[in-house]
Amino acid sequence: DMDFSGKVAVVTGGANGIGRAVALGFARRGAKVVVVDRDAEAGAAVAAEIGKGSAIFRAADVTRSADVQAYVQAALDAFGAIDCFHNNAGIEGRVAPTAEYDEATFDAVMGVNVKGVFLGLRHVLPAMIRQGRGAVVNTASIAGLVGTAGMPAYVASKHAVIGLTKVAAGEVGPLGIRVNAVCPGPIATRMVQDIARQVSPNNPESVEERYTASIPLRRYGTPEEVANVVLFLCSDLASDITGAQYVVDGGRTAA
Ligand code: NAD
Repeated sequence: DMDFSGKVAVVTGGANGIGRAVALGFARRGAKVVVVDRDAEAGAAVAAEIGKGSAIFRAADVTRSADVQAYVQAALDAFGAIDCFHNNAGIEGRVAPTAEYDEATFDAVMGVNVKGVFLGLRHVLPAMIRQGRGAVVNTASIAGLVGTAGMPAYVASKHAVIGLTKVAAGEVGPLGIRVNAVCPGPIATRMVQDIARQVSPNNPESVEERYTASIPLRRYGTPEEVANVVLFLCSDLASDITGAQYVVDGGRTAA
């Protein structure tokens, strides 16, 4: 079931938004948690909220191989294993059409969202293979399933996350390790606020109203609603699920 007592969970991008909700959700259900983020202040606060002995924070830039190896080693040193890995850190970049999109932002988005996710898999999977168990959830997006005008780098990066998920699932399934993707629609986090400010600098609040009109449930999702699915996919309830994409979008892509 969804009891994670005796389990160890690592969450990248765990300082804010969806990752924070996942870190707190794991902790509430008994897991030891390793919070990984480049935002040291917010990351340390999440670990402190969970409590000493039950969580540690590791500052890391997920695009740097040395940082990734260091957080994996820190998790193993502190808690002895990595049972669950939420490979979640991501950035949205800029809102601009492909014909005007700048190369540096494209590289930055691909760096965090694709290389960062790859490096997480590259360094966490060997530990899970040694253990002979583990569950990974990569945070993709509905932008990994459908296009959105004005977000070429983000959409390309999230399609790539689904590709990485499928490849890894095929490779490590025979070894008892599952790898899935979660595909959130618009979730009320800082990221969505940043996008709204770019789309409508003078009236960012109006973006939510306009956008939710196209969502059957007529609202943004919450970080906790995404966390519920991430925890499910990491739990034994999902024991036959691997290589899958779970959409959490209030019906947006179905409508
Ligand atoms: P957020 O900005 O609240 O959280 C993202 C976290 O990732 C932050 O704490 C940030 O510091 C961290 N991060 C960014 N780059 C990093 C790096 N290089 N190294 C380490 N940490 C880094 O946003 P969120 O909405 O919680 O985003 C989490 C994930 O969910 C992202 O992958 C995002 O693409 C995805 N997502 C979000 C939405 C949404 O609507 N909010 C929708 C679909 C997918």
